[in-house]
Amino acid sequence: MIPPNLALKRKIMFHIYDAVGPKYLNLPEMLQQTTQLYWWPDMKAWVTRYVENCEQCHHNSTATRTTSPTTTSLYSKIHKAQELHRTTLEKWNSLHSISEEVGKEQSDWLKEGHLVIPLDKALRCVILQLLHDAPTARHPGQDETFAQVSYSYWWPGMRSWITDYVAGCVICQQNKNITHCTHTPLYHIPTPEDTLPFQQIALDLITGLLPNGPHDSVLTIVDHGCS
Ligand SMILES: [Zn+2]
Repeated sequence: MIPPNLALKRKIMFHIYDAVGPKYLNLPEMLQQTTQLYWWPDMKAWVTRYVENCEQCHHNSTATRTTSPTTTSLYSKIHKAQELHRTTLEKWNSLHSISEEVGKEQSDWLKEGHLVIPLDKALRCVILQLLHDAPTARHPGQDETFAQVSYSYWWPGMRSWITDYVAGCVICQQNKNITHCTHTPLYHIPTPEDTLPFQQIALDLITGLLPNGPHDSVLTIVDHGCS
């Protein structure tokens, strides 16, 4: 539930609507994404107004974003990295069927409409920080993070890279539900100080073992007076 805080709502919109990648979500997609995660009074009307007032998608819903500083800087980082790793991308052209789409101002390497991210660990981390670590991303699990990233981006071995990233996320580890039984701690059986040998003993039988000749059980005897 989101309190009446305009800045917070805008931040949520920024994450879902403006910062996920080179494509804008349409209104039904936006409403679905928002209602899945958040609620506030009149949310649908608020989100509808936000989308309708968005300048970039007013005339062209597939327009590339230009005004969001974070997205612009991420997009320009991706573009620079693509230029820097052009030789690798040309190899990937035949290996992974990626292609260079020439636009009006610049060209982008894409795979089926997804921006190709070259071998640049720092850049991949920036994307994951935005779509996994950001407060509005709420540290989704491996599958959800993969779905978010693969909506806009692609690189070879992306799924295992994301799986490793999420598995190594400290916040996720700290908040993970414990699904296995916790063991009862070992403790010392108290004995009086003046206990004589064999005055306080414990017997334990382990039965049903694989037979060893005629024997299938173990009897243990512990003299607690000696411990
Ligand atoms: Zn996490």
